Amino acid sequence: MELTRSLLKDKKRIVIKIGSSSLQHPQTGDLDYIKMEGLIRELCNLRNMGKDVVLVTSGAIAAGKKAFQVFQTEHEIVSNSIVMKQAYAAVGQARLMTTYQKIFAEYNQITAQILMTKNTVLDDLNRFNAHNTFSKLLELGVIPIVNENDTVATYELEDSIGDNDTLSAIVSAMIDADLLILLSDINGLYTDDPRMNPDAKFISFVESINQDLLNMGKASTGSSVGTGGMNTKLIAARIATNSGCDMIIANSKDIRNIHRIVDGKEIGTLFQAHKDDDFYLSDFVRNLHK
Ligand code: GLU
Repeated sequence: MELTRSLLKDKKRIVIKIGSSSLQHPQTGDLDYIKMEGLIRELCNLRNMGKDVVLVTSGAIAAGKKAFQVFQTEHEIVSNSIVMKQAYAAVGQARLMTTYQKIFAEYNQITAQILMTKNTVLDDLNRFNAHNTFSKLLELGVIPIVNENDTVATYELEDSIGDNDTLSAIVSAMIDADLLILLSDINGLYTDDPRMNPDAKFISFVESINQDLLNMGKASTGSSVGTGGMNTKLIAARIATNSGCDMIIANSKDIRNIHRIVDGKEIGTLFQAHKDDDFYLSDFVRNLHK
C-alpha cells in the first residue's frame, strides 16, 4: 500500500544528504553561501520542531581544490592521483566545517564533525562507538555533520564507501533514522535519463526496489562534481529501506524542499521502507564495489 505523504510529518529522526554539486557555484566551484545558509536554516528549523537531525555533506575535495585555486571538470578530477585527492580532502574538510559552523552558530546550533570509513561499519567496536556517539549527540540536541574520511580511506578504491549517497544510507541504518532525504541536482527517479530521453517519465513512489529499477540506475549518468549518479542512489535506497527508513530523492535547487517534504508535499521520489530482518548492514557494506 502506498505510503501517505502526510505521514512524513511524524518522522522524528531525519538524515539529510547534500552533494558537492548542490553546494558549489557551477561557474567557479566556489561554495554557494546562499545555498548553504538556506540549508542550515532548514536544518535548524527541523531541530526547532523537535526532530533529530543529521547532515551528510560532500564538498571536502572540491573545497580543498579551491584553496589551491584549482577548479576541474569531473574528467580532470578522476585523473588526479589518490594522494592528491586525499590532500585536498584534508584541507577542504576543515574549510567546509569552518563555514558550516560559522553559519550554524548564527542560529545558536551546536554541530559536531563525524568522519567515517568503511571500517566504521565493518569493525564491531568501531560501529558500536559510532552508534553511541551519534546517539549521545542527538540526545544533546547537536546536529552531527558527516563525511567520509577521504584522507585515510583510499578514495574510490575497495576499502572506501566511495560516495555520500551510500554513506548517508549507512548512517541512517546505524542510527535507526526514520527518513533519509537525498538532495541532488535531479528531481528524483525517472524511467530513463531525462537529459537524454524527453519521454522519460517521473516516478514519484517506489514501493519496492526490483531488478528493473536497478538496471535503470546502472544506465544513468552522474553529475559533474559529485560521485553519485542514480546507481549510488538506488544502492542507498536498498540500504535505507531494508533498514526500515523511508528515503526521498529530491532536487536541491530549491532548498526549501526540505520542509515541504517534511510537511508531506508531493516532492521528489519516495522509496517506502520495508524493514528486512535478514538484511545485515555490515555484510552489505563488506560487499560494496565487489
Ligand atoms: N567525500 C567526498 C568529498 O567530500 C565526496 C563524495 C561524494 O561526492 O559522494 O569531497
